[in-house]
Amino acid sequence: MIADSAGIGMTSARTRDRLIQRLRDSGIRDERVIEAMRAVPRHRFLEEALAHRAYEDTALPIGHGQTISQPYVVARMTEALLGSDLPDRAAMRPARVLEVGTGCGYQTAVLSQLCDQVYTIELVESLFNEARRRLRQIGAHNVHFRHGDGSQGWSEHAPYDGILVAAAPEEIPQPLLDQLAFGGRLIIPVGGRGSQELLRITRTGDDYRRELLERVMFVPLIGDQGETTSR
Ligand code: SAM
Repeated sequence: MIADSAGIGMTSARTRDRLIQRLRDSGIRDERVIEAMRAVPRHRFLEEALAHRAYEDTALPIGHGQTISQPYVVARMTEALLGSDLPDRAAMRPARVLEVGTGCGYQTAVLSQLCDQVYTIELVESLFNEARRRLRQIGAHNVHFRHGDGSQGWSEHAPYDGILVAAAPEEIPQPLLDQLAFGGRLIIPVGGRGSQELLRITRTGDDYRRELLERVMFVPLIGDQGETTSR
């Protein structure tokens, strides 16, 4: 249950409904995802000066050269993680999900509605602190935070039913593949700066099935298994 009181005056129900309609029009079908997107107060994850744009379907700056993800992309990645587009028996409520790149914590809040436990890692310390504060404030109590390099995963809590990566490496980091449970799904943008392929990798025993979902544009994944420095 998400607390959504502060700043509510700024975002009328109609503005939020318009975003939900846009997500439906863009092909988001899973009602669980739609309801989670409706429940999470995106304006609470932005600086006051940008809060009035919170329900536009667009990425917005959050400082440090980083962005809050576009709502459509958040919804699409969440559906892909849940397996909403797969035959019924494959759709799931994941017990454990790892998120790499907490950013401001918006995608984390959506995941916290749909998964039992969410483990999230952020490299930039001030974003990490701010996201942790916000998520606690809105009552997302099933989220576990770590400050550091998420390209290595978080082996202590592996294996994960789902791993969602919100920054793009040139190649898929091996530790993330290793930390996926059998049947688990990794949703990750892969490629150079500019545009990348959003992939779903499903672990089947010791094999991995790879699906191309669509083209996307993410900031680069920094760290040991990504770029070495931020440009
Ligand atoms: N989905 C997030 C949201 O809704 O706010 C936005 C994530 S933003 C596009 C990508 C984030 O990944 C940035 O905050 C960046 O600092 C972080 N990041 C980049 N490389 C990382 C790494 N190796 N480990 C953890 N976080 C990383």
